[in-house]
Parts: sequence; structure tokens; C-alpha cells
Amino acid sequence: MQKPVIVCLDLEGVLVPEIWINVALKTGIEELKITTREMPNYDNLMKQRLAILDRHHLQLGDIQEVIGKMGPMEGAMDFLSWLRERCQVIILSDTFYQFAFPLMKQLGFPTLFCNQLEIDGAGRIANYRMRMQNQKKHSVAAFKSLNFFTMAAGDAYNDTAMLGEADAGFFFRPPDHLPKEFPQFPVTQTYGELQERFAKVGNLR
Ligand SMILES: [Mg+2]
Repeated sequence: MQKPVIVCLDLEGVLVPEIWINVALKTGIEELKITTREMPNYDNLMKQRLAILDRHHLQLGDIQEVIGKMGPMEGAMDFLSWLRERCQVIILSDTFYQFAFPLMKQLGFPTLFCNQLEIDGAGRIANYRMRMQNQKKHSVAAFKSLNFFTMAAGDAYNDTAMLGEADAGFFFRPPDHLPKEFPQFPVTQTYGELQERFAKVGNLR
């Protein structure tokens, strides 16, 4: 008998647009457009982002206002519903609960594993706390140890360890350079294509 299936999905770039790119567009701060796509070291990237926010006197409330106006990507809701009817779905993201909340609400609160922001009394983002290093990879490894068949999809550098750890990993709309570096992960460009891959490999009906 086949093991039950868990699908692990990245959040930004897979179900919702890049949060920081939207904040950059809305605020006009160009340097906030840099994401894990360009800067693989997340710690350096986050330190840079918080320093930029401070320089521009932007607080959690300002960022949440922008995020509240974002919605899921077109087709994401149908894709997620299709998947959740057929297997267990966990979203593994390097974002923060405070940022993700308005988007999770729109997605019907699927299970999300991510991180916390430290907010000071004035509403300034003082720091951030990653629950652990490499949570995406460790989560998939843990699900495997619980005897699940694991599949995963993501779009960026910070997903590649998760894709490699999963029984089957797929890219979803990655930047051009990434599949050249990681040719082992099949590339999908639409939810239909990703659904087809999951259905076939995971034997989802
Ligand atoms: Mg992403």
C-alpha cells in the first residue's frame, strides 16, 4: 500500500507574490527588490532589509498595510483546494507570521511553518527570529521519518535543499539561472503542470 502523501509548498512565488518586491514597489525603495532569488544568504538579506526599513522609518504597520492589499497569485486558490482535497499540504516559508497573516487569511489558513519578527514597543521591527536553520529541509526530513511520501515545490535558492530532501521536488516558475544550476528538479510554469506532476508522482486522484 502507498504511503500517505505530504506536499510541502514554498509560499512567495508559488502561492502569493513576493512580499518584499511589493513593499519595494509601494514604497519606491528599489533596494528592497532584492530577494533570495538574487541573494542566497537569507541572514545577510534580512539584516539588509531591516537596516533599509530603519533608514526609511518604516514600521511593521506600514509593511502589513502593503501586504494586506496583496492577494494570492491567480489560480492559487483553486490549485491549493485541489491539492488539499487529495493530500496533506504544509507551507514551508522563510517569511514571518506577522507578514503572512493577511495572506493566510485569504488562503483559508492552511498550515504554515515560518518564523517570528521581534517588534519593539513603538512598532519598529527590532529583529527577527528564525525558528531554526534550514527548516524547509528539516521539515521534509521529519515528515519522511514519520513515514509520509513527500513532494515539494518552490521557486528559489532557499527551496533547493527542500526539493532535494523530498521524494520528489519540482521548481515552479524559477528564475532562468536556477534550473541550470539544479537540473535535477523538473521545471513547471503553471499550476496545471504542477498538479499533473504531483498527481502522477504521488498517485493523487
Ligand atoms: Mg519563494
